[in-house]
Amino acid sequence: MVQSRDAPAGWGEGGETALNEATGHDVIVLEHVTKRFGDFFAVHDADFAIPHGEFFAMLGPSGCGKTTTLRMIAGFEVPTSGAIRLEGRDVSRVPPYRRNVNTVFQQYALFPHMNVFDNVAFGPRSRKVPEAEIKTRVGEMLEIVRLEGFAQRMPQQLSGGQQQRIALARALVNFPSALLLDEPLGALDLKLRQAMQIELKRIQREVGIAFVFVTHDQEEALTMSDRIAIMNEGWVEQIGRPEEIYHRPETVFVAGFIGQANLWQTTVDAASGDTADVTLGERRITAAISGRSVRRGDPVTFMVRPERVRVSLDEPGNGHQAVACRVVDLVFQGPVVRFALDAAGAEVVAHVGADEQLPLLRPGDAVWASWERDAALLLSGAAADAGDAPTAVGAET
Ligand code: ATP
Repeated sequence: MVQSRDAPAGWGEGGETALNEATGHDVIVLEHVTKRFGDFFAVHDADFAIPHGEFFAMLGPSGCGKTTTLRMIAGFEVPTSGAIRLEGRDVSRVPPYRRNVNTVFQQYALFPHMNVFDNVAFGPRSRKVPEAEIKTRVGEMLEIVRLEGFAQRMPQQLSGGQQQRIALARALVNFPSALLLDEPLGALDLKLRQAMQIELKRIQREVGIAFVFVTHDQEEALTMSDRIAIMNEGWVEQIGRPEEIYHRPETVFVAGFIGQANLWQTTVDAASGDTADVTLGERRITAAISGRSVRRGDPVTFMVRPERVRVSLDEPGNGHQAVACRVVDLVFQGPVVRFALDAAGAEVVAHVGADEQLPLLRPGDAVWASWERDAALLLSGAAADAGDAPTAVGAET
């Protein structure tokens, strides 16, 4: 197997690219990039950088602008304003074939009349690389994607996952500074998709270049990425590591889009520094402010994840915040029991581990819902702005 330390010699030549070791600079930089189609803004003021060697995902619902952003990096679209830099050079108006990036699409369309070797050799051959070098490079790429014995096969003799790996080899053989991937696993069934997620991450680590990955599948983004950009209606809402995005969303949209969340709309009673007080049910609750700062009287959304909510008969002691509730429904879901509770008109969902000791509860019983102080956040704006994740729960106080 080719390890990153002896990755193909083409990477790093001419000072163009990086292997696994951090080079301390960014490979892709977007500077206030906006894209308009007529009057319609597909991307607003995207302003971020992707360092060498990073697995970076752009995640968001359909139509949020992620593919347009990727296409601008690839050179298939020209920004309306702003600049795109690759390896420090402004490429905003450089055509795709003169940029040192390659794109892998969902429809990876190998050339059907060429065998695997010739498919992978296509890029270097069209750039007149000597045949002996092509043979070495193609061999190395097939080794990286673990299809060494497949050089003579025709594309129709390969499974979907194998075809996708050949498409990756065909892109990587050009030694791009970054690989751009537009929903590359979208055509695969769930099991193969999950296997390919692990495989893609392995390949990325092995070759050590930046992968920029577009997906609408949050599990896929959380599984593979070093950092994720969450996009909504053309805006980049937040960029962060998967655990930051999950535990410390900065907008109501992100809180609702990633995972499940209890989201209550309320207003600020008092704010001081990084925390603010709100009233939930009859209780005054203090929580950390995440994202934009808030002032007294501002509409805010209170957020707590269902797995951080505890359910008890007695009011919990110090260190916990609690609201009095009634049990509306409880469902055994294998690893967790899902409680739907009512707190003075607000729905609270709690996921309680099946191994936790709980008294026998029935709908109508009075209980306390509580959480540790660091589990709750206050986000500027209305709960109705929450991302449309299929599992999000929301309620109004
Ligand atoms: P999906 O997951 O559905 O591919 P996306 O987040 O990748 O969505 P984009 O393809 O970037 O979304 O599109 C963003 C918005 O820009 C959409 O509303 C789309 O209709 C619009 N759009 C994209 N390309 C064009 C174009 N060439 N002309 C006009 N509008 C366009």
